[in-house]
Amino acid sequence: TVWTPAEDRYETMPYRRVGESGLKLPAISLGLWHNFGDDKPVAGMRATLRRAFDLGITHFDLANNYGPPAGSAELNVGRILREDFARHREELVISSKAGWQMWPGPYGGVGGSRKYLVESLDQSLQRMGLDHVDIFYHHRPDPDTPLEETMRALDHIVRSGRATYVGVSSYGADLTLEAQRIMRELGTPLLIHQPSYSMLNRWIEEPVDAADGKNLLAALTECGMGSIAFSPLAQGMLTDKYLDGVPEGSRAAAGSSLNPDWLTEETLDRVRTLNSMAGERGQTLAQMAIAWVQRPQETGQVTSALVGASSARQIEDSARAVKHLDFTQDEVRRIDELVTD
Ligand code: NDP
Repeated sequence: TVWTPAEDRYETMPYRRVGESGLKLPAISLGLWHNFGDDKPVAGMRATLRRAFDLGITHFDLANNYGPPAGSAELNVGRILREDFARHREELVISSKAGWQMWPGPYGGVGGSRKYLVESLDQSLQRMGLDHVDIFYHHRPDPDTPLEETMRALDHIVRSGRATYVGVSSYGADLTLEAQRIMRELGTPLLIHQPSYSMLNRWIEEPVDAADGKNLLAALTECGMGSIAFSPLAQGMLTDKYLDGVPEGSRAAAGSSLNPDWLTEETLDRVRTLNSMAGERGQTLAQMAIAWVQRPQETGQVTSALVGASSARQIEDSARAVKHLDFTQDEVRRIDELVTD
């Protein structure tokens, strides 16, 4: 039987315009870096994607290398899109990226060459069984490729119909300003920037000399670009899950991208204080952490929080963050004092 999504799926999630574009993204988006590779059962992935969509999460974020093995997340999602979402493709914003090593040899990644980006996206489309993605990103800066070449490749990718919009990830403020200058000249402005951002990682707020003292957020406003903050839960550290040790099956237990050594007593103490603040706000710490990355929203900069989830239950919990997104000045000050001292 064909899966039918919830009828009320558009009733609670806020949707925000991305920068100066006409595209809107949900306040919360789902990333498939972990939990969608061949090391996990497809049934769990399917349940998470269905639940997310039922909750109004219309944006799923991928990359060529997500797995393990690299490429398997796109293959698995492709299958679920075909089997469950075939009648809902236009309701979804699917993104992919290239920038990390993907195939052997000098053309297979860690780069920004036109050859790598175009051929990698063709592979991604084939794996997902799609004729285009909605957003395609250069995954990280490549100092060995002229920026002009990478930007021309992104422009070509849009003009050839492979992607509807393009963006960059992890570019600094100065590089983003320069990239957008090139893209405006080419006639295909960058839509969005995907930086890491959380209460434990605030680099996008720090002024950069090379960008005339602007921080990334200010640079994005100047460029008319939106942003989507990745790892707003600091990979799970900004939740209650590590307060009593490292649970089995958690990302820190796997120890690959989340090093359990980062869970120092000092960090856990801060997390405990944040956890009780979240309690005072009537939400879980995960929900508060998701709301927090969106607080520069008054100035229109962080469009969406890009979370991961290892179960349908987690995305359900995270999605409830939209019930309480605003912070009092006092809460903002207390969090600042706690995380920056
Ligand atoms: P998060 O910081 O949201 O961490 C997700 C992890 O936190 C989950 O796997 C889970 O851990 C735990 N978690 C999630 N929800 C809850 C909850 N409600 N309660 C308790 N624990 C919870 O983000 P990710 O690090 O997964 O990154 C999100 C996305 O950002 C990626 O999927 C990817 O799309 C993108 N990204 C982009 C990068 C880039 O270079 N552009 C780099 C990294 C990520 P557990 O698995 O232990 O249960």
